[in-house]
Amino acid sequence: PALHRQRHQFVIDFVNLNKPKKVLDLGCSECRLLKTLKFHRDIELLAGLDINDSPCMFFRHKLAPVSTDYLQPSYDQLRIELYQGSVTQKDSRLRGFDLVTSIELIEHLSLADVELFSAVVFGYMTPVAVIVSTPNSEFNLLLPGVSGFRHIDHKFEWTRAEFRSWALKVCLDYGYEVEFTGVGQAPQEQQDSVGFCSQIGVFQRLGGRNGSNSPCEHLLPQWQQLYSVNYP
Ligand code: SAM
Repeated sequence: PALHRQRHQFVIDFVNLNKPKKVLDLGCSECRLLKTLKFHRDIELLAGLDINDSPCMFFRHKLAPVSTDYLQPSYDQLRIELYQGSVTQKDSRLRGFDLVTSIELIEHLSLADVELFSAVVFGYMTPVAVIVSTPNSEFNLLLPGVSGFRHIDHKFEWTRAEFRSWALKVCLDYGYEVEFTGVGQAPQEQQDSVGFCSQIGVFQRLGGRNGSNSPCEHLLPQWQQLYSVNYP
């Protein structure tokens, strides 16, 4: 399967195993991941945020209930919310999630904004789990035609060591533990030397579901709600 599908499948497998009730996708773009997650019966709140509102607005119809959704009574409650805003801004409506996903997003931020992202996501939203994926630059030598970065809008691409050092600092600063993995495998003999095509960190808040949410600062909402829908 295509790499973007493998990344989304990684999230879906995590959701199947951990059954989070509230899931937020950062940089949700065309809402593809949200659309797949809509079919998971354990999820009660599914939210998406992107700085760019046009793909969200164009594709939000994918999230609306279709007639067959009403025929399946197991949707006791599902709410979907889409926001326009930046992951560098705090918004108290986005606290209290069980899972926050950031799939191929951080490499679009300046390093200064990555610091803000860490503070907002791990320090302020304090979700139980966070999945972060980003390109692994060590894999680039296997990608035909890629000399600099994989995409013109990437501000950086990290080696495994660089990703690890950012992730471990986040854990120390904000009270998480992390496991490293990835999707997109190199041929067998190169797997150790280059790693995965997309590297993934799975962060869990220390103390898990019972770990404490830090007290909430009272802030004005920063993100603009674009859309919301309740399933029956
Ligand atoms: N997560 C999606 C996926 O898995 O296919 C799309 C990833 S796309 C490469 C990166 C997305 O991040 C874009 O939709 C972009 O608008 C969004 N983005 C970039 N900077 C952002 C920011 N500061 N806050 C929120 N979203 C941002």
